[in-house]
Amino acid sequence: MSAKINIAKIRNNVGAKEDFAFDITEDDVTVEGWQIADRLKVEGTVTNKDGYLLLEGKICGELIGACSRCLTEVREKIDESFAEKLLYKADTSRFSDLAFGELEEEYTIYDGDVFDFTDLLVENIIASLPSKVLCREDCQGLCPHCGHNLNEGQCDCVFEDIDPRLAILTKLTYSD
Ligand SMILES: [Zn+2]
Ligand SMILES: [Zn+2]
Repeated sequence: MSAKINIAKIRNNVGAKEDFAFDITEDDVTVEGWQIADRLKVEGTVTNKDGYLLLEGKICGELIGACSRCLTEVREKIDESFAEKLLYKADTSRFSDLAFGELEEEYTIYDGDVFDFTDLLVENIIASLPSKVLCREDCQGLCPHCGHNLNEGQCDCVFEDIDPRLAILTKLTYSD
């Protein structure tokens, strides 16, 4: 299923509320670089605030990613609140003194009876995830030669360090 709510009922009724609760799985949304562990729970309320609809709720669950250095599985729990003001497209005319761009900064403009907030959920999920994924702060990563996980100890690869003084000589030789 996707994240959709029918708002036709509450749109013309100030103070009216509608609760929603559903699960989203890997089949419903794609979060770049991550996989949803089992399911994410989404629940919340949409309320008619006289002029706009306030959509607020929570997303809870766990996602599976990979350490950016050693590729080990990393599990990240999320418990993220979200809130968004929804403005019916026909109602934007009330704000004739405001530029459409300014309106869009404050509101999500929607049309029709059903609001699909799948994209909004994905944005919130991404915002709650770390931008740099590490299995631990001091992860040693993989050996660039043999791919051995250096957190499990050194490999047998030998790296030849070039003496910096020799490096300068090499440079001189080739730079005319
Ligand atoms: Zn790692
Ligand atoms: Zn190695």
